[in-house]
Amino acid sequence: MNTRKRLAAMRSAGVLPTAAAVPANPACVIGPGQRCEHALVDQELNRRLYAYEQRVRGRFTAIIDTLKVVSGLQHERDFVERAQHLARECLGYELPAALLGDAWVNGLDMRALHAHCVFRSFKQCVDQADADQSPWRERIALTPDFIRSCGYHTVDVSPCADGRLQGLLSFILRMAPSEDVFVKAYAGAMFDVEGDVADWARRELDRLTGGLPGGETANYLKVAAYHFSTSDPGHQGCAAHGSNDDRAVESALGRLNELRAAVENTFGRGAAPEVLLIGVDTDLDAIRVHLPDANGEVDPHRYVDTADLYRATLGMDAQAARAHIAAVVAKAERAEGPAHGEGGMHSGMRALVLKLLEANLSQIEYVIQHHAGRYAVLGHDEAFICAGEATSYVHLRNKYYYAHLDTVEEGAADMDVGIRIFTGLNVRHGLAVPVLVHFHYSSRVPGARERAVQRCKRVKNAIETRYADLHARGLLHCQMAVSDYHDSERCAFLEDAVEDTAH
Ligand SMILES: [Zn+2]
Repeated sequence: MNTRKRLAAMRSAGVLPTAAAVPANPACVIGPGQRCEHALVDQELNRRLYAYEQRVRGRFTAIIDTLKVVSGLQHERDFVERAQHLARECLGYELPAALLGDAWVNGLDMRALHAHCVFRSFKQCVDQADADQSPWRERIALTPDFIRSCGYHTVDVSPCADGRLQGLLSFILRMAPSEDVFVKAYAGAMFDVEGDVADWARRELDRLTGGLPGGETANYLKVAAYHFSTSDPGHQGCAAHGSNDDRAVESALGRLNELRAAVENTFGRGAAPEVLLIGVDTDLDAIRVHLPDANGEVDPHRYVDTADLYRATLGMDAQAARAHIAAVVAKAERAEGPAHGEGGMHSGMRALVLKLLEANLSQIEYVIQHHAGRYAVLGHDEAFICAGEATSYVHLRNKYYYAHLDTVEEGAADMDVGIRIFTGLNVRHGLAVPVLVHFHYSSRVPGARERAVQRCKRVKNAIETRYADLHARGLLHCQMAVSDYHDSERCAFLEDAVEDTAH
């Protein structure tokens, strides 16, 4: 039984309060005749993001219906032509000729076709990313210029690898993707400290050699984003931390503090990057921003919650709402007791925090307008597994499950969780698990592409060996792909045979 059905059963058995007891729009409690329209929400940006969401999701939702029609045609004389025509019309690409050509002998291999289409649709999103995204990119709230004006040359974000956080940057934080903003997801936001020290050092080198414009006095900002579920905290929180919210907060904060200590101990006092801790309620896309004190220290108890801000400021004009938010932040900074900090944030950090809080109000209203205030599917609903290194071309909740791995042995736990999720999502319905094996390389480094290709092959083989039973039954389909950090190619698909003869 899935979680929603189980919850419904528990409610009808009286174990849980009925759905009516949980407000439909938890962020928006209003009187009759009032509307959830907040003065600080950018309605136009929300329209543009929704058009993007529709376009990207549409490329995936068309797959099943199209394949059902194709399946019904397979015994027609002109099957191949009709199937290809249909695929071009409905999906925008052709189906593999070999799969169609053999259909009259053994019937169509629908699993292979389905997996193929999931990958092709994703590739379409990658290839169309600039055109799809430019309308909202040019209007987004947190631009690279704004971030620099707050005193940061780099923002390095590590969310949890959970698919529900894939829209973190553009939707939830309303931050523009740019070459100064990195997103690297890890299960439970447990980022790799050594890897981050290396990233920090590389950016410092860029800064010291004048490679970062305006970077002379600017700093590096590391953000960790944990997540939780207010509607079903015991089940739909962070799986990597057993849905235990306290553990999710403390683990992410622990990593941030380790990173600061690592840089200070290695490069001297004062060298450490600044850090920010953000929590995401994945039911509503509301955030908690933990406020650093004057020393940059972050505390689990000292935060401001945007769902509260939205409720408190709905109906105010923009000026009054901004003043209210600033007052709430100032009050939290002066908190006594467990949330007490040593003084307030510096002005750049405060400007950034205030902007993040305000920008997220637009996302809360987006979820109210387009997803009934709370996502219908609270949990997993991904289209495929991405194993290796995540791509950054598509910004949308639950597009894929991500298993960060250098080798399958190291990443086995994440990969096992992914296979378990897809056993429920796909295998149960007779569909295969599509796995995109993806790695980056730098086209400035001789031989790097070849090494990335070999890495893809090693990981693909190891996955097929680890899940040999699924693979033997045709229930596992791996597609290898590489991307250049410097954009000469994005998510280029590798075919086994072609690559073998090419190298
Ligand atoms: Zn998580």
